[in-house]
Amino acid sequence: MAINENHPFSPENMPYDTKMVFREKISTLIDGREIGFSILVVRGQKDGKTLVVCAGIHGDEYEGIVATQEFFRELDPSRVRGTLIAVPIVNEPAFFAHQRESPLDGKNLARVFPGDSDGTVSEQIASHFTHSVLKHGDLFIDLHSAGTHYTIKPWVGYTIKSGRIQQIQREAAIAFGLDLIWGSPFLPGRSSSGAYLYEVPTLYVEMQGSGVCRREDVNRLKVGIQNLMCYIGMLKGDFPKTPPADFREIDHGEEGHLQVQHLSTHHGLFLPEVSLWQQVESGQRLGTIYDAAGTILQIVCAEHSGRIAVLRTCPSVAPDDFLATIIPI
Ligand SMILES: [Zn+2]
Repeated sequence: MAINENHPFSPENMPYDTKMVFREKISTLIDGREIGFSILVVRGQKDGKTLVVCAGIHGDEYEGIVATQEFFRELDPSRVRGTLIAVPIVNEPAFFAHQRESPLDGKNLARVFPGDSDGTVSEQIASHFTHSVLKHGDLFIDLHSAGTHYTIKPWVGYTIKSGRIQQIQREAAIAFGLDLIWGSPFLPGRSSSGAYLYEVPTLYVEMQGSGVCRREDVNRLKVGIQNLMCYIGMLKGDFPKTPPADFREIDHGEEGHLQVQHLSTHHGLFLPEVSLWQQVESGQRLGTIYDAAGTILQIVCAEHSGRIAVLRTCPSVAPDDFLATIIPI
């Protein structure tokens, strides 16, 4: 497929019933490496809504990258009304370094949105993604997973807004079709901070991660993307309309900030003593950190009751690494 490098990125000028790959060029590093990202676009047979899908905001989360590439490859434009815009790897510097944050500026791309076109590399990527891609969306979904060092109970989430955006986010989260939905308070710096500049309702998804890419998780994401296209009328077909049993919306406090609970206080070896999605009570032992001789350094206990939504799977830990996240459900 031809790669179109014309600027600005303008999917509305594409012919109907086509697929195209665009390359958003941001800058060139001193060693000649080009900073940018690839944009996959499917323009349907008729005008309609635009769904924006992205993955690879964090460089060690692979399920969403594979799902968006495969979905683009398999989608027949003649079945589509409207436009699908997919960016499989937003953060190429982090992806090619196989790590969560960018090796070029040490920044977490999900903390710098809406970005700065004159800022560091991550801030420039956020700015280009916001003003070249997100501005086209009627609905946006950002695909994440637990990354290399953790595992997650898959869920679809959103930050709680008011009015029309909130209603669309809630309905779209249900339509996506996972068995856990988690609406939590707004936290700045995520991709939603870019999308909300353009009033685009925004979802995110978390998948199991652990540094692998399970076929089951890729397939669940592809079904979810298809369901969203049905929900906004881009494809014909049914989608879930009733909330799953595990549905939580809370608009205050630190909920949704996964990395603040159950912090390690030592360098050591962490062994969990609970499993993912297990129900735990406040004070219950979650795991133990040992030193190099096998002596106990820290016994980690539940800070509140609920279910284990995120759990560290990499045994090697450093001070301030979070070890588990409990969702009070
Ligand atoms: Zn992520």
